[in-house]
Amino acid sequence: AAKDAGRNCTRFFSQELSAAAERRRQLEQALRRALDEEQFVLHYQAQVNAAGEPEVMEALLRWNSPERGLVPPGEFIPVLEDSGLIIETTRWVFRQACRQARQWREQGHQLRIAVNLSPLDFRQADLAGSLLAILAEEDTPAELLELEITESALLEADEHVQQTLTRLKTAGLPLLLDDFGTGYASLTYLQRFPFDGIKIDREFVAGLPDSEHSVALVRGILTMAAHLGLHVVAEGVENERQAAFLRLNNCPSLQGYHYARPLAAEECLLAGVIPPTPALLLPLDG
Ligand code: C2E
Ligand code: MG
Ligand code: MG
Ligand code: MG
Repeated sequence: AAKDAGRNCTRFFSQELSAAAERRRQLEQALRRALDEEQFVLHYQAQVNAAGEPEVMEALLRWNSPERGLVPPGEFIPVLEDSGLIIETTRWVFRQACRQARQWREQGHQLRIAVNLSPLDFRQADLAGSLLAILAEEDTPAELLELEITESALLEADEHVQQTLTRLKTAGLPLLLDDFGTGYASLTYLQRFPFDGIKIDREFVAGLPDSEHSVALVRGILTMAAHLGLHVVAEGVENERQAAFLRLNNCPSLQGYHYARPLAAEECLLAGVIPPTPALLLPLDG
């Protein structure tokens, strides 16, 4: 009887497993369709300077699923990565970002768009070539875009990654190290790769200004970055006390719900996150 129970148990588990595998397969298929039928949308979150003016808008991917509603990236990016669909998705994101950056520029807004790369994007033979081809096809100057790369992309810190990053930077795309401080070898990455700036992870910002530990870490990071000539963005700024501390310590760029949530491009204008351009306010004189 014990043996039978064991067998039933095994059957139960394998049914559970195959149900999970089946859900996963369906999710993958739905994501394939999402790509083909353009169900993805980009929301944009402002990075502001010390005067509170937006300078960079970070593109953050959402899936507008007919069945599931608006799905956040944490729920589907891992699946895109496992299935290899991430490579095509990144190209889509980058192309949309090019078009949006051009449109804002044509409307007179001085904004760049930051695009997040996945570690898996570096597995393709020619990531740099594919992104530079899109810039050319969309007739978009590289200076309107920048790239955010998480430390996990650099774990495979080999020649290939090094060459890819150098080529992108040489083409005029600024490179930012995302979630700085949460990886295994943040300082090694700064030493080895040609970054233009870092984004301090919101984990460190969250403790400001009350935690002595966070204060020391953030001050240390800002001092180091200044010595290295690196730009700094503080992520996850949620209140004025954090913002005041960061401004007082000369953090050049701030991002977080305190300033703006990620919004669709039109909403950024409607909500006033992107101010109306002076050119559009001037009276027309013939
Ligand atoms: P990330 O690049 O570090 O983006 C910051 C995340 O923090 C975003 O979540 C943003 O909405 C959220 N956030 C911003 N300000 C605050 C704040 O003040 N408080 C808190 N608690 N959170 C804040 P989101 O949009 O869910 O994106 C999560 C992650 O998904 C991103 O982290 C990025 O790693 C990834 N991701 C998003 N879009 C893309 C994409 O197009 N491609 C790739 N490869 N990854 C993406
Ligand atoms: Mg990012
Ligand atoms: Mg980040
Ligand atoms: Mg983060």
